Amino acid sequence: MEKKLSSADYIALEEKYGAHNYHPLPVVLAEGKGVYVWDVDGKRYYDFLSAYSAVNQGHCHPKIVKALTDQAQKLCLTSRAFYNDCLGPYEKFATEFFGYDKLLPMNSGAEAVETALKLARRWGYKVKGIPENEALIIVCEGNFHGRTITIVTMSSDPDSYSQYGPFTPGYALKKVLEEKGDKVCAMIVEPIQGEAGVYVPSDGYIKKCYELCHAHNVLFVADEVQTGIGRTGKMFACDHEGVRPDMITIGKALSGGTLPVSAVLADDEVMLTILPGEHGSTFGGFPLAAKVAVAALEVIRDEKLTENAARLGEIFREETGKIKSPYFKAVRGKGLLNAVITEPSNGIEAWDICLKLAERGLLAKPTHRHIIRFAPPLVINEEQLREAIGIIKDVFESL
Ligand SMILES: *Cc1c(COP(=O)(O)O)cnc(C)c1O
Repeated sequence: MEKKLSSADYIALEEKYGAHNYHPLPVVLAEGKGVYVWDVDGKRYYDFLSAYSAVNQGHCHPKIVKALTDQAQKLCLTSRAFYNDCLGPYEKFATEFFGYDKLLPMNSGAEAVETALKLARRWGYKVKGIPENEALIIVCEGNFHGRTITIVTMSSDPDSYSQYGPFTPGYALKKVLEEKGDKVCAMIVEPIQGEAGVYVPSDGYIKKCYELCHAHNVLFVADEVQTGIGRTGKMFACDHEGVRPDMITIGKALSGGTLPVSAVLADDEVMLTILPGEHGSTFGGFPLAAKVAVAALEVIRDEKLTENAARLGEIFREETGKIKSPYFKAVRGKGLLNAVITEPSNGIEAWDICLKLAERGLLAKPTHRHIIRFAPPLVINEEQLREAIGIIKDVFESL
């Protein structure tokens, strides 16, 4: 009989045979259900990362898993060389759900962002009339839009871009809008910066950006890969300011964490600037993804997860705000996308606090040295949330 591997064995395998491009907490997970995950020894944890907000609907949601397994036995992949009987119904459902003319299906968040950048440039040349190869796209300080070469070009974080050059030209910071507005095709913004550490812009910022863009005939593009699909207590974080972006990128929770599924939403004026053969992806919009995405969005709607995020987010910030510890500095966020800002001292950093939280049965991950993001699945209920807050409180107050 084969010997059962321990956590240390699994970690050693990744260390020896995998690239070292991540630094995970030393927890080896084997099962998930709703807000919980279990490690290989059967220890249960609250998942307060939710795979960076991909698992908004909770782990292994039965309705989403059923859509996945039913379709997996029928037809998985056709490529877009042919039509299939899942994509059209999904596109109809999703565009009505989100209120856009059209959807362009991709797989990862980074691909959705790349697609939006291509669409923005196309629109800039074909509709706005920018001279060929001169289009600019405005990006924000501290942004995170993914990991491709073009996307890390836009980054201001040296960990993301160092030694990956030469970079893709055509990106600029905001002051350029005033000087070169006629060359700018788009501005891309995360309405709340997730990876940077849950930075919530001041009230009115998104609206201002949107108005500034429109004053200069520039597309306002919201990257809602992390903030979208209910996470911040509205369907999109831009909804908090009543802004309807010209283009939106979505991903992560679009599949409830079961498959990489992403998309760009836009209206015809933008979307139809790309013609057959000019962009695509082998898997983009595959039947499995189409069925899973419909089920994942139905779960958000039917279980009122957006409303739950809004209500429980208030409780989270109010209760964690009362933590009395020299290591606790502040809590910020919207809905169930929150972060606690820690005060590193005596050599204790956010990482060490996350290790202690894991010991107590709650998984969260630091972003940078002093910020811990807390983003449970949106299916969490008030009792579970209060228990989790108790764990966080205990850990901070006993450091
Ligand atoms: C995670 C994320 C991405 C990238 O998504 P991947 O699926 O990892 O490529 C892009 N934008 C934002 C805002 C994200 O949080």
